[in-house]
Amino acid sequence: MTSRSPIWLFDLDNTLHDASHAIFPAIRVNMNRYMAHLLGDGTTPADAATVNAIRLQYWQRYGATLMGLVKHHGVRSDEFLHEAHLFDDLPSMIRAERGLARLLARLPGRKILLTNAPRAYSHQVLRHLGLHRHFFQHIPIEAMRVHGKLQPKPSAQFLRKLLGTHGVAARDCILVEDTVANLRVAKQVGMRTALVTRYTQPGLHKNSAACVDVKVKSVFHLARHACRLYRLPP
Ligand SMILES: [Mg+2]
Repeated sequence: MTSRSPIWLFDLDNTLHDASHAIFPAIRVNMNRYMAHLLGDGTTPADAATVNAIRLQYWQRYGATLMGLVKHHGVRSDEFLHEAHLFDDLPSMIRAERGLARLLARLPGRKILLTNAPRAYSHQVLRHLGLHRHFFQHIPIEAMRVHGKLQPKPSAQFLRKLLGTHGVAARDCILVEDTVANLRVAKQVGMRTALVTRYTQPGLHKNSAACVDVKVKSVFHLARHACRLYRLPP
């Protein structure tokens, strides 16, 4: 059995920190405000039920609300991402387990941050958690493009492009995520997958068994499953 040095693709929100605590609720408020204006008639903003239904519909269909707004409403992605990630005091909203930097340092292989969040926000969270130096690459949503077009997770095309860029086999990549839809596509591409459960509702992990190699409550449990993640025979 061979042992190759793996590449870890780490999601950020609800994988490395608890975004559900304060950040996601704030993003939801920002998005709703933006969308109410967008979907209104020019004078009256759209009502909350309409906005919520469309936000959920795009998130389920495209994996990111942004993609639906760009596709169906001609929204400028940079403008929307900026508006959605305005916070009064982001550092005070971040909650995470202690010791993440040590954990990342201990895991063998290179690590890439792969997040559907925008660059400015994810950079700030990484700095706050002291994790920036542990990632050799930081890929925010703006950078997930194929032939110039935005292709955020769960895009198989972008994952294949990423493998090509790094000249690495899919089986030597591990996607660590809380979102099952993203893991499913990574698995189809041939990557190893780890589901992190502690920050998301259990209902969201249904039907994950087929696409998840390892299910952990916290990223701190990854090391103990190492053999199943990166010493699997090809
Ligand atoms: Mg996530």
